[in-house]
Amino acid sequence: MADLTKHYGEVVAVAGISLEIEAGEFFTMLGPSGSGKTTTLRMIAGFEDPSGGTVELAGEDVNRVPPYDRAVNTVFQDYALFPHMTVGENVAYGLRVAKVAKAERARRSEEALEMVRLPGYADRKPAELSGGQRQRVALARAIVNRPRVLLLDEPLGALDLKLREQMQVELKAIQGEVGITFVYVTHDQDEALTMSDRIAVFNQGRIEQVSPPVELYEHPATEFVAGFVGVSNLLERDGSRFTIRPEKIQLVDPGATANGLRTERGHIAGIAYAGMVTRYTVALDAGGELQLVRQNVEGTSSDAASEQGREVIVGWRPEHTVAVRGSSTTEEESP
Ligand code: ADP
Ligand code: MG
Repeated sequence: MADLTKHYGEVVAVAGISLEIEAGEFFTMLGPSGSGKTTTLRMIAGFEDPSGGTVELAGEDVNRVPPYDRAVNTVFQDYALFPHMTVGENVAYGLRVAKVAKAERARRSEEALEMVRLPGYADRKPAELSGGQRQRVALARAIVNRPRVLLLDEPLGALDLKLREQMQVELKAIQGEVGITFVYVTHDQDEALTMSDRIAVFNQGRIEQVSPPVELYEHPATEFVAGFVGVSNLLERDGSRFTIRPEKIQLVDPGATANGLRTERGHIAGIAYAGMVTRYTVALDAGGELQLVRQNVEGTSSDAASEQGREVIVGWRPEHTVAVRGSSTTEEESP
């Protein structure tokens, strides 16, 4: 898509985005609520006409192609299945509309159910399934007619955390097996990092950065990305701004040698015991705060609590700091 925009009256939902998504890619649009993700997805699907710019599918400009003629299917969060139909009939619905013969319909819908790990479920009713299983049926229904591209708008949003994490892994595996391009929308950074080949970070209708997960996390390009994807520690020293991730920061014993670490003095301003790790907030003497995490290899929560206010030295490797610029959105908006 090139220079895609969408205005609703005064509201600029999508403010000009250009993207190229590769065939077979698991591509995620990540951003806070209201940043324009759903609107972008709806323009790809054809449910929404762009105010400007173009959408191309496999090299063809589809601006004038209606949704049902695009080789695209969508899975929404509220995956409405037809309650009176069986699972098999739900999955085969699109094939019936496309006038595919009955035997072929049954064969392909069973194949799709196998792909989403629900073989043999064709004769059940949606009401007999769990939430996760219903979402799989919705997925089977969307892949049964083999679209080139599957659009998924927060499809796991209604599931509880455990099931969501399990489905993240499965969705990624299924995508690899079916070889369909997935364009996945989420506001959940962990989900995006877990599943994606590449991630586009949305902010106020614009894209701040497009990168593979590791690159995005280790080298956020803007302050916004650093803050939205993981916890970022933003420090300003000698006029330049940089971020450093919590897990890259060590608490250094006052007597120990620094071993090439950049160090600063401060005191512990906050402690949160979180089972596997303890999170510390350190207020630095030179100004600013850092969050860091320590794995609870030995200590206990009572040890952690007694550390409040303690003078500490924090240290990190200089190569783990990342220089960041301000958000492109806020810079461009100031006249
Ligand atoms: P996201 O999916 O990232 O949460 P959306 O694409 O739904 O964001 O919305 C982007 C912006 O466009 C929001 O400010 C939203 O209120 C606005 N918007 C979306 N759809 C409409 C609409 N049909 N009419 C008016 N404003 C809309
Ligand atoms: Mg949305």
